[in-house]
Amino acid sequence: MQNDFSPEIQENESAFPRTPRLSVVATPIGNLSDLSPRAKETLSSADFIACEDTRTTGNLLRKFDIFRPLLAYHEHNEQASAAGIAAKIASGAHVALVCDAGTPTLSDPGFRVVRECRRQGLAVESVPGPCALVTALSVSGLPTNAFAYHGFLAPKTAARRRFLEENRVSKMTLAVYESCHRIRAFAEEIAEILGENRVVCFARELTKLHETVLTGTIGEILPKLVGKNLKGEFVVLIAPENFEL
Ligand code: SAM
Repeated sequence: MQNDFSPEIQENESAFPRTPRLSVVATPIGNLSDLSPRAKETLSSADFIACEDTRTTGNLLRKFDIFRPLLAYHEHNEQASAAGIAAKIASGAHVALVCDAGTPTLSDPGFRVVRECRRQGLAVESVPGPCALVTALSVSGLPTNAFAYHGFLAPKTAARRRFLEENRVSKMTLAVYESCHRIRAFAEEIAEILGENRVVCFARELTKLHETVLTGTIGEILPKLVGKNLKGEFVVLIAPENFEL
């Protein structure tokens, strides 16, 4: 949690419980048992918990008997809330930053809060845990040595087609978050633009009861998506050109 690499850094130094700081805390993406003991401890002891939606986070915290004051920040008020959160830390508070699910700042707000704390030289601590992107990569069987994360693609068909055309010869695994409403159309576009043999992974409802991970060529996967009621949350991974399973 220090801001330089001075030699006196100790391995466990981030565990100073009373230091004023921002703790960036990952929360479950489905399975509640994935909230780490350290995340629980951090949330239970923070002076404030900064969250996207007080109702969503309030529901999660209640399940763990954690009752701490909540501060709301959203993408549209994040700049102003970032200054407010940083001011609280500067005056001695410990603030835990969470998002609705998973790791803050990844296709979720929080980046401006972290940046503001860094700009002011305030301590920022990592409390890592679930993230749909890393979870999907880890179970996909696709190369993870180099990947490019694109978050949510633009909803417009033309923009998504352009994305695929621009990445036809990618040497990295491509990772996107996609809404269940567009998943079949996206699969059809992948087959049409990248060819039937491109290896993909469709990871749905990770860590939840209906977790489904389909890895194969898009030619094999596409028929499995047709005629199905595709509900839930999806990560789509596209392997580099010429990758074979
Ligand atoms: N910050 C989160 C993270 O660390 O993964 C991502 C939040 S983003 C607003 C929500 C998107 O993440 C969903 O639309 C879906 O694409 C993906 N996602 C979240 N949870 C998921 C899950 N359990 N299984 C598959 N994808 C998931």
